[in-house]
Amino acid sequence: MSIERVAVIGAGTMGAGIAQVCAQAGWDTRLYDAFPDGLERGMDRIDAFWEKGIARGKTTPEQRETWSANLAAVSDLAAAVADVDLVIEAVPELPELKQQIFAQLDELAPPHAVLGTNTSSLSITDIAAATNRPDQVIGMHFFNPVPIMKLLELVRTPSTSEETIATAEVAGAAMGKTTILVKDVPGFATSRLGVVLGNEAIRMLADGVASAKDIDTAMVLGYKHPMGPLALTDLVGLDVRRDILLNLQRSFNDDAYAPHPLLERLVNEGRLGKKVGKGIYDWSSGHAEETNLDED
Ligand code: NAD
Repeated sequence: MSIERVAVIGAGTMGAGIAQVCAQAGWDTRLYDAFPDGLERGMDRIDAFWEKGIARGKTTPEQRETWSANLAAVSDLAAAVADVDLVIEAVPELPELKQQIFAQLDELAPPHAVLGTNTSSLSITDIAAATNRPDQVIGMHFFNPVPIMKLLELVRTPSTSEETIATAEVAGAAMGKTTILVKDVPGFATSRLGVVLGNEAIRMLADGVASAKDIDTAMVLGYKHPMGPLALTDLVGLDVRRDILLNLQRSFNDDAYAPHPLLERLVNEGRLGKKVGKGIYDWSSGHAEETNLDED
């Protein structure tokens, strides 16, 4: 199926980025948010990204003009999805909200439209169950920041049709992404490996194997990871990673995924990572500084 028009639902961190790459792919793109402020912030964020691109010589004013013309902020859900070929949902990670939105999308979007969800942890099967077209529902898991990160993790359920997968693969390529195809299992491929690596690094830190910096350097220089697992845990948020681990532990009924007690303790102390200035590292200077984890 060829794509000409797309709608992105939710104009936050991810939705704005997704709408941006859709507009850059040349599609007629509608960005929708339930809140006027959210919609405005999302449009502003996209504009600022393009503005910076021009300042850095990476984007031409003509490109920006073309991309801008492809993008519209729409505050009515029915109008946003009325004639689209693809919808990508990026509302908050709340199962009931996603299901409610998918039931609405099923009513409002054209029968041929593929419905993608950017959920990072919820069951695609459960989300698809809210529609009468589970064969046209697929996980489209982007990474932050969307315009920069090359990966698009496609998540298929037992009902997702080959045609839907093909459409999502073509869409991913048009957005400049490399797609991988994963079954609908908790943690997909990315989160599952990512959190296990981070949790093990925290265990090593607690066991005194090496300092946080040295554990991170081991992976950066020894394994060519762009960032160490501890710094990455700080960047993602310790609470976010703890919740993913708990979800995996519960779903697989396997304590191998249990969050390490040090991770639990840091979360309980409010050391949630870079977003609050302190996690495994102290980020108050703007970059990662080793810190005493036994201090408050
Ligand atoms: P966010 O909070 O930045 O944005 C969510 C947006 O949805 C907000 O603008 C909000 O106003 C809007 N919204 C709320 N209720 C709505 C509704 N009923 N209809 C339409 N819009 C509504 O969240 P985010 O970080 O962009 O995450 C969105 C999704 O992407 C989540 O499922 C999350 O798990 C997933 N995800 C996030 C990241 C990340 O790094 N932030 C990475 C991959 C996937």
